[in-house]
Order: sequence, then structure tokens, then C-alpha cells
Amino acid sequence: MKLVCVDCHKESPAESFAYQCECGGLFDIAHDFRHLDAEQLKRVFHDRLSERMTPYASGVWRYKELIFPDLPEEYIATKYEGNTGLYASELISSYTGNRQVMLKAQSENPSGSFKDNGMTVAVSHGRSLGYRRFTCTSTGNTSSSLAMYASIAGGESYVFVPNKNISLNKVMQTLAYGAKVISFDGTYDDGIRFYEQHSKELGLYICNSINPFRIEGQKSIVYEIAQYLDWKLPDWVVIPGGALSNVTALGKGLQDLKSLGLIDKLPRVALIQAEGASPFHRMMSEGRSELIPEPAPYTRASALNIGNPPSWKKALRTIEETRGVTCSVTDQEILDAKALVDKSGIGCEPASAATVAGLRKLVSRQVIDKDETAVCILTGNMLKDTDALREYHLDESSNGTFRNAIHGAELTLSNIAGLL
Ligand SMILES: *Cc1c(COP(=O)(O)O)cnc(C)c1O
Ligand SMILES: [Zn+2]
Repeated sequence: MKLVCVDCHKESPAESFAYQCECGGLFDIAHDFRHLDAEQLKRVFHDRLSERMTPYASGVWRYKELIFPDLPEEYIATKYEGNTGLYASELISSYTGNRQVMLKAQSENPSGSFKDNGMTVAVSHGRSLGYRRFTCTSTGNTSSSLAMYASIAGGESYVFVPNKNISLNKVMQTLAYGAKVISFDGTYDDGIRFYEQHSKELGLYICNSINPFRIEGQKSIVYEIAQYLDWKLPDWVVIPGGALSNVTALGKGLQDLKSLGLIDKLPRVALIQAEGASPFHRMMSEGRSELIPEPAPYTRASALNIGNPPSWKKALRTIEETRGVTCSVTDQEILDAKALVDKSGIGCEPASAATVAGLRKLVSRQVIDKDETAVCILTGNMLKDTDALREYHLDESSNGTFRNAIHGAELTLSNIAGLL
């Protein structure tokens, strides 16, 4: 395992861990998988499905050989993350027009979002280096996840959250897990800049998406999809993008599977951004080769509210290597799609539903065929943003297509019979 700079391609040993190269570029983790055998790996991964009390019961650590092979088990901080459901839904098929869609519910992770897939690896790595204090800047889910794992690892977490447009549910969850929450006047991007400069003097281990170990953990999402589908991936994987760490991990995980011979063809990736925070989609649709940051992004899907995604170069690689596409959707499209994912019994937070809204749009534009197979990745749990539920279903001002308001009624037989 070694670190490779995304910009200047300089290599350094994983032991000399740093978040960024001297040139300012981000690091990727490069593995040497040459000694691994695909058939044997499949058997090992399969056998671990029946584990209960070891790190290998986790849907992340089950794939340790492909994620962090050298880490001694004693450092692993795990909560049995991963192991999430993969669902077909009639309702979502007919809404998107895609007959073969399935939803991968990373919302079922222990802290309620896919951030757990990566955070278990970052915190375990920090612990192996002797850190006890962890930090991140977050729109909410990263901080909840970090706070949970820091506590599991017996350490402490310090999280920076912008004081506007984030979900109170997520902040409360973070507080409840025992983090010190520092609310500041500024954007997500300001928070990152602050501790990039100061984390060393403060003795903090950074758990943002610039941390390459989080990317390694998030690769497990596509490994798990592949394993559940008997190592046959769908034609398309549809994923939402904010900081673009997850689409980066998806691409990297796909390349692993391909290079190991565990799959023989790469699915295409469709990356969906919210219209109010879509610098990456704009770059792609305008055919530019540099991302222009958006100084004041706004989307109601707060987990996607990022105007200057640090990982955009890595994300670009995923799109190029998979012949992928990008697309943006409005907040109204996101919230209506979310209402249907909720109604289907699966449930998700607004950001996740960008995938379903995006799939619908791409099918209507005939970019994705109605008979192609597709998996949408649902990133966060429906209870992560209860304000969004209230606004959609209860507020007078809601223009939700699938609104389901509360019925006030006096309890008489005729009243109630009339409601049924
Ligand atoms: C973090 C997050 C995203 C965006 O993922 P990136 O890796 O930042 O692109 C999407 N949905 C939810 C629920 C999230 O928490
Ligand atoms: Zn470099």
C-alpha cells in the first residue's frame, strides 16, 4: 500500500501519512493486488457473511484485503456498518420509467448514512497512528458518523459545522454521541480551509473526504452490490454528488473489481447533483476542463450543498473511465422523488433522492434505456431531516405532488368511514 499524488503522481509510503502532497494535490491509496486470486477472494467474502462477532461481520471489513490489508485487527473501530438492503420497488420503477431499478439503502448504516462506510476506516487508521482526537467539517452526516466512531474507539471528536442550512437532526445526533460541536459563520469550504492550516498544531486527525482512507472504506458499497448480485453489476449505478467522495470511491471500487477479474465489465456511472450546487455537472455540460467553484450554493438537500468539491479531479476520473454521465435536478424534483422513496417503505433523506429524480430524467431523455438495469445509491436515512418531512407533508405552503397531510377528525363512525 502506498500514497500516490493525484496531481504530480509522486509516490510515498503509506507510513508517512499526510493528507496532501507537497504540491497541494490530494493523495490516493494504491494497492498491489497482484498476489490475490479472484476465486479465493469470493470464497473468503462469502464465508464471512456468516460471521457475527468479529470485524469481518462488517460490510466494510468483510473486504479488508481490498481496503486496508495491513491494519492490525486491534485498531478496528466497527459498528457492523454496511450489510445494507438492496431493494426492487414497483413504485420507483413506474416513477422513473426504468423497469429494472434497485435501491441500495446505505441509509441503513448505524449512524444513518453511507459516511459510516468510510469513517470506520479513517478512525481505525487514525487510531493505529496513535491519535485520540478526530475532527471534520460537515453538513451533518460526516460529523454524526465521526462522533459515533470516535466514541466507539474511546477517543474524542471536534466537529465544525456551518451555522446555516444544515439539519438540526444531524447536529443533535452529533452532540448526543459526545462530540464537541463548533458552529461557525461561514461555508463548508471555509471550515475545511481552517483546519487544513491548523490541524497539525492542534493534534487533530482529519476525517474529511480529503482523507484517502475514507475513500477506501466507501469502495465497499459497490463491492457489496456486486457480491449480492453474484458478481454481476447492473448497466448503471446512479449516485448523488456533493463533495464527490462517494463517486470517487465508486470509480475506484469498480476498477478494483475489474482489475481483480471479479467483474468483467464496468457499469456506467450517472452522477446527479442538485441544481443549486452543481459545479461539477456545469463543468461537464459546458465541456470545461477546470471546475469553477460556486461561492454561494443553495439546495434544500443540505448534504449536497457544496460549491467547491475538493475531490473533483478524482470524480472526473470515475466519469471518464466508466463512460459516465452527469445531470442536475431541482429541489422540487428531489423532494417529490424522496416522497416516493419514503412511500415505497424504503425511505431516505432529500440528498439521496436526487438519484431517483436523476434516473427519471435520464430515462425520459433516453440516456438510460427503460430496460437497462440500474442501482440507485440511497445515501442517508429519512429521519436525518425531519424538517424536510414536515415542510413537504404538513406546511400550508408545500407544493409536494405526493403530499400526505394529517387528517383531523372527530371520532364518529361516519367521519372515519368517510376517510377510509
Ligand atoms: C455526504 C452525503 C452526500 C454526498 O456525498 P459526497 O461524497 O459528498 O459527494 C449525499 N447524500 C448524503 C445523505 C450525504 O450524507
Ligand atoms: Zn503532488
